[in-house]
Amino acid sequence: MECELCGKKADHLKKVKIDGAVMAVCSNCEKFGTPIENYRNKPVVRSATPTTSTSIPVQPLFIAKPKPTRKFKKETDIDELEIVPDFAALIRESREKTGLTQDEFAAKIKEKRTSIAAIERGSLKPDIKTARKIELFLKIKIVEKF
Ligand SMILES: [Zn+2]
Repeated sequence: MECELCGKKADHLKKVKIDGAVMAVCSNCEKFGTPIENYRNKPVVRSATPTTSTSIPVQPLFIAKPKPTRKFKKETDIDELEIVPDFAALIRESREKTGLTQDEFAAKIKEKRTSIAAIERGSLKPDIKTARKIELFLKIKIVEKF
C-alpha cells in the first residue's frame, strides 16, 4: 500500500480527512488530517459519474465537485475549498525550483504527466486531493477556504 499523500510505501495506512477529502495516509502524514470516526459506519459513496482522468477535459477550468448531499453534511465541507487563481504559475515555479521535470514530478505525486502539464498551463484545475499532494510535495499553498 502506498500513502496517498506522500506516496511512500507503508504497511499500514490510516484513513484521515484532510480538509474534506478522505485519504489513506501513512503514519507520518496522519498529522495532516483528522481521523475519521465511525469509519465502519461511513456510507459507501459511489462516484456518481465514471469520470476518467485520462480524458482531456472538455471545458477548461472545469472542476469536478461532489454532488452536495443534504444527508451527509460533512461531505459539503469540500465546497468551501477553492484552488487559488494563480495555481498554475505557483506550481510550475515551485516544481522548477525542485529541479524535477513534469514527468518526474508527476511520478512523485502519482499523477499523470499530462495532468501536470495541463495544471501548469492553467487549463486544468487540480481537485482538492491532488492539490493537497502538490502542496505537501512542493511546500506551497494552493488551496484556500472561501
Ligand atoms: Zn505519507
